[in-house]
Amino acid sequence: MRESISNKIALLNQATLESFLDTDSAKIVEHFTEIGIKLLEADFGFAWWKTINAKDYHLIYKSENTPYNPKPPRQEGGNFKASKTRLPFFVASVKSEKYSKEFDVSSYMQSYVIIPIAYKKDIYGSLVICFKKEQNFSEEMRELATALGRTTAQSITIFRLKNKEKEVLAKAAQQEADLREEQLRTEFIANASHEIRTPLAIIRGNIDLVLLKNKKIPQDIVESLHIVNGEVEHLSNIITDLTFLTSKGVVLKEDIILKKVDLFSVLNSVVVRCKTLADKKKITISLSGLKNIIMVGDVECLERLFLNLVSNAIHYGKVGGFVKIKISKTGNKAKVVVSDNGVGISHDDLPHIFTRFYRVDKSHHTIGRNTGLGLAIVKWIVSAHKGSIQVGSVLGKGSDFEVILPILKLD
Ligand code: ADP
Repeated sequence: MRESISNKIALLNQATLESFLDTDSAKIVEHFTEIGIKLLEADFGFAWWKTINAKDYHLIYKSENTPYNPKPPRQEGGNFKASKTRLPFFVASVKSEKYSKEFDVSSYMQSYVIIPIAYKKDIYGSLVICFKKEQNFSEEMRELATALGRTTAQSITIFRLKNKEKEVLAKAAQQEADLREEQLRTEFIANASHEIRTPLAIIRGNIDLVLLKNKKIPQDIVESLHIVNGEVEHLSNIITDLTFLTSKGVVLKEDIILKKVDLFSVLNSVVVRCKTLADKKKITISLSGLKNIIMVGDVECLERLFLNLVSNAIHYGKVGGFVKIKISKTGNKAKVVVSDNGVGISHDDLPHIFTRFYRVDKSHHTIGRNTGLGLAIVKWIVSAHKGSIQVGSVLGKGSDFEVILPILKLD
């Protein structure tokens, strides 16, 4: 007897090892149902499976010689009892059980055991091992049934952990590949920008030279050359913006130079730089609010951030309109609002305006400053300073860009 039980335990251990080669939980359950039939010297068997979070069981495996189609377990039946106690539920003689007509199994078997597949709090399902004859379930059979349920559950748990590990590894590999791809893309853009910058400068220089030296060029050609020059300027601006986005976009932290910055004077210099642009459209720019905010930030970046917002406000502003810049404090953060009464932005476009190259009026051909990268740069600078930006806009009425920046302290 000892010999035979040790053989049976060995069979169970062997099944555990073999289950490591199985490719899904269903295969593991199939494997252990067959082992259960062998171990308990039963006639047939099947298995119920509980999908995660589902209350109901479904049939996941049925041994070949199962003579009928088992009905899904009932709340008051042996399956649910076994899953509650987490112990095998033995029916030594079906005669002693009261079945409804629908669930009467007496014509297929005389005894059976329902073995819960339970691991910690989880119930994965159950194995039902059936006998054509009545059984006086011995202690050995009871122990084997318990061991079978435990071993099945362990194998499924290991399988799931293995899968999870695979998923985690695959995700990490994907993240690494994405990062590498982003680096390559960035390097490519940086190199290409660098290569393009010089020929563009040469083209521009030569056109200027031609315009300067040849006073006799017909007017229509002069106009064409001005258009070419405008396009070249536009390209140069894209290159400048791209270089900013890529070079700073990658080495975020190292590239930001944190120093004490006087916010009012940053905005004042932006206003001075935008004055000519505003005058051309008869737009009044006003700067108001707190003059004493000394924050920690990258002066060049902050200037760029507000230059982009203010020049947009002018560009999309109305002739004879206004651009208002207001500095205030909210808690220990600085708040800068740039408002205009220009064209405004539609509800549908608002979520996209910070996307690289997104432009509301795609048909509009612009020469010069506008690259569709301005707000992407703004967003990057704001987040590099751990701030936030919000836009409120009404089409035809104007826009408010609200920037909140922490007033960081230097250590
Ligand atoms: P662009 O170079 O085209 O101005 P931006 O990234 O700066 O690119 O802005 C993206 C789009 O957001 C613009 O094309 C414009 O349609 C819209 N936009 C930005 N600022 C304003 C504003 N103050 N008023 C209305 N529309 C604006």
